[in-house]
Amino acid sequence: MNAIFKIAVLPGDGIGPEVTEEALKVLRAIEGVLGPKFRFQTGLVGGCAIDATAVPLPPETISICNHAQAVLLGAVGGPRWDSRRPDSRPEAGLLQLRQRLRVYANLRPARVIDSLVSVSALKPAVVRGTDLVIVRELMGGIYFGNPRGIFSKNGERMGVNTEVYHESEVERVAHRAFQLARQRRRKVTSVDKANVLESSRLWRDVVTRVGQAYPDVALEHLYVDNCAMQLIARPTSFDVILTNNIFGDILSDEAAMLTGSIGLLPSASLGERSGLYEPVHGSAPDIVGKKRANPIATIASVALMLRYSFHMERAAAAIEAAIEKVLRSGARTPDLPGRKRAITTSRMGNLIAEATVKFLSSPRFLPKEKP
Ligand code: NAD
Repeated sequence: MNAIFKIAVLPGDGIGPEVTEEALKVLRAIEGVLGPKFRFQTGLVGGCAIDATAVPLPPETISICNHAQAVLLGAVGGPRWDSRRPDSRPEAGLLQLRQRLRVYANLRPARVIDSLVSVSALKPAVVRGTDLVIVRELMGGIYFGNPRGIFSKNGERMGVNTEVYHESEVERVAHRAFQLARQRRRKVTSVDKANVLESSRLWRDVVTRVGQAYPDVALEHLYVDNCAMQLIARPTSFDVILTNNIFGDILSDEAAMLTGSIGLLPSASLGERSGLYEPVHGSAPDIVGKKRANPIATIASVALMLRYSFHMERAAAAIEAAIEKVLRSGARTPDLPGRKRAITTSRMGNLIAEATVKFLSSPRFLPKEKP
C-alpha cells in the first residue's frame, strides 16, 4: 500500500503524552507490515498550549489539524490550570477543536472483553457479551443553545440554558447511526425525552423519518430515564444507541462503567471531512509519570481512526484482536485487577504492537464477522 495518511498528533497534558506515544508505536508497527506511510505532525492543546502560547488552542495547532486527515488527541487539563475561567481552561481547547473540525457524531463503543468480565461493576451473567456503541450528537443541543447565562430578574438570579435542535442536525447524526448499525447487528435505539421536551419530539420525528430509508435496521425509541435503567438491567440488548448531546454525555459514562476501567475506552468524533480520535479518560494527574497509565483506550482509538478515516478495516481489526489477546494472556496495567504483576504503560504498548504485527503477518488473519 503506497498511501500517505497525515495525522495531527496532540498529546496534551498529564498522561496524554504517555498514552499517545504507545498508540504511535502501534501505528509505526503497522506501517512496517502494511506499508502505508503515516505522517505525524505534533501540536499543542490544553494546558501545555496555555503555558507556551497563553491560549488552549493556538492557531498553529488549528492549522496542523486542518491539514491532516485525522487528529489523535491524548488528554487535556490538570490542577495547575483549574483556577482559570471556563473559557480559558485547557478543556476549552478541546471544545473549540471539536467545533472547528465540525465533528458532529461522537462514537463511543463499550464492549465487555471476555477476559475482563469480572472487572465490571455488574454481575458477569448480566454484562457478558455487551457490545454497543453510543452515537452522541456533539455540536448542538443544550450545551450550545441560546439564550444562555445567569441573569437577574426581580432581585433574584436565574440560570438559563436552551436546548435547540434543527432538523438537519438530527438528520445527519441519525444517518451516521443507521449506517453504523448496518455494519453491526442492525438495531438502533433512539433515546430522547419526547414525553416532556419539544426538542425531543422533533428528534423522534426526524429519526423515525430517517429510519424509513433503512428498512433492514430495527428502530426502537426509549425515554432517557428508561434507557439509563435498561443499560444496567439488559446491556446486551443494545447495539447502536443514538442520542442528543447531553443525554449522550451522561449515558456514555454509564456505559463506560459496564466495561470496568476508563483506561479501556476509545472514542471517535466524526464530521464530513475530519475525524478526531481520543481516549474517553482525562489527564489522570494522580498517575502522571508513574508508568501506570493504561494505553489501551488510546490504542483502541487509533483502531477507530484506521477504520473510519482510512478505511483500513483489517489493520483496525488486528489492533482490536491484539488488545484482546494481550489481555487474555493476563497482562494488566495497575488499573485492572490481575493475578500477575502489573506491567508498565510502555510494556503494554510493546505487547499490543507485537501482537498486531503477528496478526497482520498471518495470512489466516481475517477480521471477525460482526455478529
Ligand atoms: P480522569 O479520567 O483523568 O481520571 C479519573 C481516574 O481514572 C483517576 O484515578 C485516574 O488515575 C484514572 N485513569 C484515567 N485514565 C486512566 C488510564 N489511562 N489508565 C489508568 N488509570 C486511568 O478524570 P478526572 O480525574 O476527573 O480529570 C483529570 C483532569 O482531566 C481534569 O483536569 C479534567 O478536566 C480532565 N479531563 C479531560 C478529558 C479530556 O481530555 N477529554 C476528559 C475528562 C477529564
